Amino acid sequence: MSNADADAIAEQDPEFVFELRACRWAERNWPPGVNADDADGAGDDCPAIVARQLGTKRRRWDTIVMEVDPDALRQRANFGPRRLDSDLLDVIPHAPPDWQWYQDALPDPGYPWRYVRESIHRAADRGILDTRKRNNRIEIRRKWAYPDWMDRIVAVENKPDLDASAARHLAAQLEYDVALALADEVWVATRATGESVEPALLESVPVEAGILTLDPDSRGTGDGRSAAVEWFPRSLDADAPGTRILERGEETKYGQSAARFEYADPEWKAHKRLEIAERAYEKGWRAYAETMRPDCRHFQLRREGRTLLPYCAAKDCHQTSSECSGSCPDFSPEPPQWRTQGWPIEGGPGKGIRELLEDRRERNRPG
Ligand code: SF4
Repeated sequence: MSNADADAIAEQDPEFVFELRACRWAERNWPPGVNADDADGAGDDCPAIVARQLGTKRRRWDTIVMEVDPDALRQRANFGPRRLDSDLLDVIPHAPPDWQWYQDALPDPGYPWRYVRESIHRAADRGILDTRKRNNRIEIRRKWAYPDWMDRIVAVENKPDLDASAARHLAAQLEYDVALALADEVWVATRATGESVEPALLESVPVEAGILTLDPDSRGTGDGRSAAVEWFPRSLDADAPGTRILERGEETKYGQSAARFEYADPEWKAHKRLEIAERAYEKGWRAYAETMRPDCRHFQLRREGRTLLPYCAAKDCHQTSSECSGSCPDFSPEPPQWRTQGWPIEGGPGKGIRELLEDRRERNRPG
């Protein structure tokens, strides 16, 4: 590929679309560097759920790969496709096999029990917990044991153009991830340049982070199958206490300002990891249509191999999720007759696009 071709692809390849390609690649090929010789390129050794834009209040990862235990994941399906939120996670995994007063059965939540009662009623309404009243007390019993379905969390930052300034910005975020060790591994995914030494290796990315290059020439396969590991990551100790970097020391004309840190205990980390895993389970990575306008007449899905990417016919390019909104100057709602005159999917193209992506998400869920 010539430099001019690479530049042309770079211009048309905003970070959002690169991220979708990276998600698709991870879904088919995880873990990197292991299945390169497989005929079908599928990462069967390590089933994974892939999601986007999840994390904590302070730090959101571009792509998340959840390595899962397929048998346990099948048992997780008993609880339905919706996530168990933070409050439900204080109840469901601790629910006893036999009837018991809820305050005896559950660990002290650290907040008033009345909120726990609300979660118990929500769980009962969803049909994932048995409840009854005895002597004016609420008793609970589990319907199914909550399985230990998530093995590892891998965070991936996508930077198609990892130049020096992007690397500087990214380095601070990766240092935060490494210090906190909420994920088991962190990676940077970038576009392969074809140079003998990938420039990403020369940038100041923390050594604990892996570097993965995706070949833009393989986009037609839709799986970005041709990916290379330039640098393997170090495993982080997600079970150990972590350090939250609140403020970095800065060099000023009066000297170095103090950095501020906070301790993250292993219990908080374990709960947060499960919360992230549940959100990833519910959301996957194809939920991008929820934050875009598939009900705009210009919105299309373009097939790239086995990947469906959003495309704007008005702008003649892959649009980003931030520009594809109601405030877009070219936004034009799909005409009402598209919804009624013979459109094969009830609700019109916009709704059909959402259903199609939802259907694909279901079919690609391991287990
Ligand atoms: S015209 Fe605007 S709102 Fe419509 S599909 Fe294109 S980017 Fe999205």
